[in-house]
Amino acid sequence: MYPIDLSGKTGIIFGVANQRSIAWSIAEILHEAGAKIALAYQNERVRGNVEALTGSWDDALLIECDAAEDSNVAAAFERVGEQFGGLNIIVHSIAFANREDLGGRFVDTGRDGFRVALDISAYTLLPLARYGAPLMAAAGGSIVTLTFQASTRAFPGYNIMGTAKAALENEVRQLAADLGEEKVRVNAISAGPLDTLSSRAIGRYRDMKRIAAERSPMRRNITHEEVAKTALFLCSDLSSGITGEIIHVDAGYNIMGI
Ligand code: NAD
Repeated sequence: MYPIDLSGKTGIIFGVANQRSIAWSIAEILHEAGAKIALAYQNERVRGNVEALTGSWDDALLIECDAAEDSNVAAAFERVGEQFGGLNIIVHSIAFANREDLGGRFVDTGRDGFRVALDISAYTLLPLARYGAPLMAAAGGSIVTLTFQASTRAFPGYNIMGTAKAALENEVRQLAADLGEEKVRVNAISAGPLDTLSSRAIGRYRDMKRIAAERSPMRRNITHEEVAKTALFLCSDLSSGITGEIIHVDAGYNIMGI
């Protein structure tokens, strides 16, 4: 338990698929801090995992929401509005690209694969903010998304997801500018490599992880908990003056030249 009290706060977290999901680490830490949490999961396939993970919570609100359709996102926030009355926290931890586009040469990425990766991994932040921000009107709120350093550097194998992360980070700045006056802050955590369902699908993921540990200033990989702690900070009043930022949680890897 960390000394940040989120009791009386409410949040919705998108992107828990299993116990290794970054979204789950964030859900756990926010829940432990006293926030009331809704988990929006993609589909029936992951529902059992999410139910099992939240089994010991007495107040879990679970909502199925395939973010590929804006109407599903609108319905999820309608439910949150009914149940919670208002909202303080939104975590967007959603990404997808076709497996064939996560290896080989970037130059071979097809139009359809490009569209899918950008749609799910970048566009989806917009409807979350569009339908979520009005629920934050009373007390203001914090929106947090997850990105990766391939937004600004070439990571062979990460390919089209790098393009999606570049778009996502640009959205963070534009949304922060849009929503600042409504007291809604929007930030991203740029995390180092972590073993999850999604990262395992990336060609050369093992190289990415090994090299990050070898070359980062701290000479190690990061942990899920370190990302979650940063999310806790961004969702709390401790970060009240921060918006539109990309915060690296990568043991410093991004600062290195050689
Ligand atoms: P994960 O596979 O556990 O999470 C990805 C989630 O996206 C899953 O829960 C999946 O159900 C959800 N999703 C995919 N398509 C969706 C859709 N149409 N509607 C709703 N949900 C959908 O993997 P993760 O590594 O925890 O990924 C979470 C975020 O963290 C992603 O944005 C990822 O790019 C980012 N990230 C991961 C790493 C890493 O090394 N694992 C590093 C930096 C950033």
